[in-house]
Amino acid sequence: MKINHNEISTLIKEQIKQYSQKLELLDTGKVMSIGDGVAVVHGLKNAMLSELVVFKDDIYGMVLNLEEDCVGVVLLGDDSQIKEDDIVTRTNKIIEIPVGDGFLGRVVNAIGKPIDGLGPIESTKTRPIERIAYGVITRKSVSVPLQTGIMAIDSMIPIGRGQRELIIGDRQTGKTAIAIDTIINQKNKNVKCVYVAIGQKASTVAQVVEKLRIHGALEYTTIVSSTASEMASLQYIAPYAGITLAEEWMEKGEDVLIVYDDLSKHAVAYRTLSLLLRRPPGREAYPGDVFYLHSRLLERSARLSKEYGGGSITALPIIETLAGDISAYIPTNVISITDGQIFLQTELFNAGQRPAIDTGLSVSRVGSNAQIKAIKQVSGTLKIELANYREMQAFAQFGSDLDRTTKETLEHGSKVMEMLKQPQYAPMDVYDQILVLFAARHRFIKPVPIHRIKEYQTSLLDMMHAKHQDLIENIKQEQKITEEIENKLKEIYQEFTNQFVL
Ligand code: ATP
Ligand code: MG
Repeated sequence: MKINHNEISTLIKEQIKQYSQKLELLDTGKVMSIGDGVAVVHGLKNAMLSELVVFKDDIYGMVLNLEEDCVGVVLLGDDSQIKEDDIVTRTNKIIEIPVGDGFLGRVVNAIGKPIDGLGPIESTKTRPIERIAYGVITRKSVSVPLQTGIMAIDSMIPIGRGQRELIIGDRQTGKTAIAIDTIINQKNKNVKCVYVAIGQKASTVAQVVEKLRIHGALEYTTIVSSTASEMASLQYIAPYAGITLAEEWMEKGEDVLIVYDDLSKHAVAYRTLSLLLRRPPGREAYPGDVFYLHSRLLERSARLSKEYGGGSITALPIIETLAGDISAYIPTNVISITDGQIFLQTELFNAGQRPAIDTGLSVSRVGSNAQIKAIKQVSGTLKIELANYREMQAFAQFGSDLDRTTKETLEHGSKVMEMLKQPQYAPMDVYDQILVLFAARHRFIKPVPIHRIKEYQTSLLDMMHAKHQDLIENIKQEQKITEEIENKLKEIYQEFTNQFVL
């Protein structure tokens, strides 16, 4: 076969043209299909996972699927203007959000833009929302308490700074209430808070903001909100944006508390994205990597050692269960990632036991190291007493004759349960908790009738604050109840109780 020179040069030219086209496809691509907030893009050969890409009109998307000749991109903005064959360009960056103290007291969306109408947020620094969590060497064990102000939690399921404690329960069982009370209780405790609302109604988030403002907690809190009406992609990134804000503070040596309300909805948003990206559905139609979704998020909570600044991030993820089923897919995943769980029960909630904490199923695997000694001394036997109480309660329902010890266990248990009831937005100082629990621990509540327990509790505290402030200071100094303090308290309590039941 004979080829003339002309043909050779056109062939070569053709090939060069194709080569440069190939090159172009490395960093740009063309939209093949678009819909439901997901675009399939041809090209973008060099794109990285989670990379930000830009469509026309400055609409951004995030790369979530890397396939052989196309990539799956979820859009972070309105997709109605984007059409097939539109050009998509790489940015070489993964999503970054601004961070810093300017965010305190503000409400922002999942990409850090203010949505509270209070103007732009001053910030000089940005951080990528995804990063590898701090390693083992940089960490320190949990040893400082993070008090929730809720007596049932601080006494029996204590949380330490840097811990991850799951709040789990059916809908409308007071999950959010516990998280909000904990935030309110951080006032004057040098803890910054981040509340991440995922897939909730905008009105619910507005209420939370208002409550925080009323109780003076907004000034040290940032709210990251991605409501139910927003795109699944924004709900998906919201918690990562929240922890990114928190990490900035932690690295400066500060203590941070972050609440994810809630991760069930986060998992659902991720499932939506995955199904739209045509990833194979697994158990309960969640994609195979749904565990990693939450593990990489929660692993970023930490307590850093002194050399790394000594800051901490305590996480309170929330999970909603269906009919109390904690063995469903997402609940078991998150239970296994966290350092314990606070389990809330509908039956208790409806029976008026609020906060509706099931002390039998709730645990804190690391927090007791962080409890101060004084509260350990008064609450050490509480969990067992309540377990006994529940056990006896089960067969006492049959109304058979009960012996004296059983009766006493039942009576004492029901009184303790009464003491543990606590209204919303009324977190209790830990030393007040100690004073109250001391009365239960040493059975001073025995002669008090159950309907007067709450009254007893408040007048006891009033009396102690009015007359025995020195003793309270003493406990604060010692951090424990010395024999001397114990004897004094017993004397005071005996006299007070005698007066009270007269
Ligand atoms: P959802 O599943 O809708 O998110 P939730 O589990 O977060 O609900 P909350 O919204 O915290 O529950 O509380 C449900 C209702 O119970 C609210 O009206 C709240 O005011 C009330 N509630 C919560 N905790 C208490 C409490 N300790 N004492 C009295 N009422 C409470
Ligand atoms: Mg809630």
